[in-house]
Amino acid sequence: MLTCRKSRTAGWGGLTILVAATMAGCGVGDSQPPSAAAGQPVVTASETPQAPVAPTPSPEDSPTETPSQDTVEIADDVATLNDESNSLVDPMSIWVIVNKRNPVSQDFRPDDLVVPDMTTAGSNNQLRAVAASALVALSQEAQEAVGQPLQLTSGFRSFDTQTRIYNNFVAQHGQERADTFSARPGHSEHQTGLAADVTTVGGTLGGFGDTELGRWTTENSWRYGFIVRYTEENQHITGYIPEPWHLRYVGENMAEYYHNTNALALENVFGFPPAPDYGED
Ligand SMILES: [Zn+2]
Repeated sequence: MLTCRKSRTAGWGGLTILVAATMAGCGVGDSQPPSAAAGQPVVTASETPQAPVAPTPSPEDSPTETPSQDTVEIADDVATLNDESNSLVDPMSIWVIVNKRNPVSQDFRPDDLVVPDMTTAGSNNQLRAVAASALVALSQEAQEAVGQPLQLTSGFRSFDTQTRIYNNFVAQHGQERADTFSARPGHSEHQTGLAADVTTVGGTLGGFGDTELGRWTTENSWRYGFIVRYTEENQHITGYIPEPWHLRYVGENMAEYYHNTNALALENVFGFPPAPDYGED
């Protein structure tokens, strides 16, 4: 349902990637507010997910695809990192952008989910294979450097799981507050299998950032292909509170670039507009 065409522009203009916006159900974000304990949420809320956004036909669309498109310019230095032709819109791409304005389809589920060989908690304990092996390696180095491994507290979450989690938070905190720490279904990076909420073993998400392991992870996860996706500095772009526990796998070369350039947000790196909200108004 998504296409991504790349073409060289004149001269050394870099790559132009045509981004096909989809109209999936609704949601990136987390399973727990910063103060919550690490258990699975009990869900009783009755809210339904957002209705799908109506497609806007575009004359540029191919006959079989994509109801609307935006053109995103990737900077030359980023384009040169893309030796694997990673898409920004294919949910199976390690560079995919999923945020409040860029959903994935309701039925998307990665086909290479595995349970990483490390301590996990709860039932959302899978990641895509490439992210799982990277997280295991990160955890092993943490064990050597800090004396503690990481725990995968929440990895892949299906659309239905995210629906239950989000609705539960809305029931508890109201929608406005829930939207600052929990993604609406279809807008969660966790649905890509590339996002990992990590903690100390038995620890909470909210406490992680203040632990030695949390600080070490923030400083070192880039060397294994992860970025800390939601920070104090990029809240106005992502629409989420800082989440030092939420790691997003983007691959080693992108994570190194992100680290070395002190990038503000993945949206900035890929030329996407800020997505602080769902744009209903
Ligand atoms: Zn998360």
